Amino acid sequence: MTKLIDGKVISAQIKDEVKQWVEVLKKGGKEPALAVIQVGDDPASGVYVNNKKKACAYVGIRSLAYELPWETTEGELLALVDQLNNMAECSGILVQLPLPAHIDADKVIEAISPDKDVDGFHQRNAGALCVGRPGFVSCTPAGILQLLIRSGVEIAGKECVVVGRSNIVGKPTALLLLRENGTVTIAHSKTQNLKEVCRRADILIAAVGKPKFFNREYIKEGAVVIDVGIHRLEGGKLCGDVDFEDVKEICGAITPVPGGVGPMTIAMLMENCAKAVCETFS
Ligand code: NDP
Repeated sequence: MTKLIDGKVISAQIKDEVKQWVEVLKKGGKEPALAVIQVGDDPASGVYVNNKKKACAYVGIRSLAYELPWETTEGELLALVDQLNNMAECSGILVQLPLPAHIDADKVIEAISPDKDVDGFHQRNAGALCVGRPGFVSCTPAGILQLLIRSGVEIAGKECVVVGRSNIVGKPTALLLLRENGTVTIAHSKTQNLKEVCRRADILIAAVGKPKFFNREYIKEGAVVIDVGIHRLEGGKLCGDVDFEDVKEICGAITPVPGGVGPMTIAMLMENCAKAVCETFS
């Protein structure tokens, strides 16, 4: 029978662990504080930012909210990042993406101190993952790995196919699976025979950003399927990159959408915020 990998349960466990860790840190005089910067009033970003603030409150991390108008210039945003980089009581900085088109997101990410880059997007942290050094790992890939590990999925020696090669999901997920000794293939929009490549996978990571793209023709019997995609269909229902109903009887285990990868991203952000006050880490 297909196993449901429940991101709500696993993320709640991680948040409880972080909560305990934060208590210990505070007793030792280290108080994590996360600055969350939002530019403009995109409703989806507003929901994500609120969820992050709620998670901070739950685990005992102070959150500093910066809600800036859409008209904010790149220079003004960079000045705020610089101010937060130098603010001792702020241990983590998160700039909610996407930013308005007149602001260069890459420039802003690179301006964040790598020691406060709890999203793990800065080149130094991305590079650290690549060469196996300590650093912040971006939250969605870190969450995917925890879903697999805490569900007892063996990665070492398994065929892992990651479909998607973005800097925030596909590439870091592939590197994490490689670190766990998976045999990793990264597929993308130019990959030939994608169905055949995916059917080789013992572990398939679906991160293409296309609703219900993966049906049973892409899945090997018994495979573990992690669905990273999140899409709102007409009528308001959410779905992932995987056609859940079509594949659920073929795969061995699968994450649902919602309630799979999504809640893990925030849990791992909380973990990164706690790590940010540990000197031995960065
Ligand atoms: P991007 O759009 O940055 O990347 C999509 C990737 O999919 C690209 O590498 C692209 O290839 C590849 N791709 C697109 N079409 C195809 C195709 N037909 N066949 C094979 N590969 C294809 O998306 P992200 O990585 O940022 O996000 C992926 C999904 O994950 C989205 O649905 C997003 O909403 C979701 N997401 C969910 C999060 C969560 O917390 N649950 C967090 C972050 C993202 P190429 O490089 O060749 O263009």
